[in-house]
Amino acid sequence: MRRYLALLVSMLIATVAQASDSSASATSKPIKPAAKESRDKEEGGSSDKKDSKKSAKESKETKESKETLQPDELAAKIAEKLAVIRKDKEDAARAAPRPVVRPAYAPQVRRTETAKPKEAEHGSAAVVAAMGGHGAVHWSYQGETGPQNWGKMNPANAKCDSGDRQSPIDIRDGIKVDLEPIMFDYKLSGFNVIDNGHTIQVNPAAGNYITVMGKSYELAQFHFHKPSEERVNGKSFEMVVHLVHKDIDGRLAVIAILLERGKAHSVIQQVWNNLPLEKNEAMTALTALDLNLLLPVKREYYTYMGSLTTPPCSEGVLWMVMKEPVEISHEQLAIFSRLYPMNARPIQKTSGRLIKESN
Ligand SMILES: [Zn+2]
Repeated sequence: MRRYLALLVSMLIATVAQASDSSASATSKPIKPAAKESRDKEEGGSSDKKDSKKSAKESKETKESKETLQPDELAAKIAEKLAVIRKDKEDAARAAPRPVVRPAYAPQVRRTETAKPKEAEHGSAAVVAAMGGHGAVHWSYQGETGPQNWGKMNPANAKCDSGDRQSPIDIRDGIKVDLEPIMFDYKLSGFNVIDNGHTIQVNPAAGNYITVMGKSYELAQFHFHKPSEERVNGKSFEMVVHLVHKDIDGRLAVIAILLERGKAHSVIQQVWNNLPLEKNEAMTALTALDLNLLLPVKREYYTYMGSLTTPPCSEGVLWMVMKEPVEISHEQLAIFSRLYPMNARPIQKTSGRLIKESN
């Protein structure tokens, strides 16, 4: 019996040592690519580290129990611990993230910040999948992680609940004035397309600008919502394009172009042609985009101060919603709908905000 016990204990120690080994530095394990180490750190969840701590604790527990437990009980306990260690290792292997191309200006939040503590603990494959698989943002457009709970999911999203300058809004009762025209300086640009898990986003090459109210903003990205987030006198549209611009101080100006059903749009087709096959992996297009073709012929617009319509719902965003919608075909709508049938935040309170519109 004593020999049997000794064998079991040595088996346990060997397994624990093996488990701890995976947390050893890259220098002692040259097979392990250094890139994976840094990726683990970047994702904020070094599971190796957790394993080694747990293993150390477990070996201490085993030493203590050796003195008090009967051999049968001890054998059962050891078998149980081995199963736990094996499962942890399997889970860690499953959860190993792939490299992520993070689009500039996408409101990305790391997994550790958004995860509820309970989920962060076990990190099972199912939870990782539910969170987007790559430490992606843990929010959505429906259910528990939907807009009603964005503000509660993370202190960084507090404005989603408490802000009084939130977007989108139902645009009505604007004051009609001679709004200065928005000066568009869009050039033929290379671009890439990314499915960030919330929408399809296009990142154009640098060098596209708008000038409004004496300030110049550079186009950072544009993306789509279905249906349109904003309404005009209660009416919503099939879709909307949000062109997100940033000035030199980081202030945002978003141009919204409403899309209604009609004929096919060449710029949208060009984007759809370059849809990536995988989420969070940018697809670089081989063609160039002429964004002037996306703009409506008439350039009248509504303007008001609002926020990002996705977490963290930051305010101080200058919104300009073009009055004239542009057309998108039934087939083009259907393609987006396959990916995102509904990705619009509900209408927010206007709270006495001033809305201006072109005469
Ligand atoms: Zn948007």
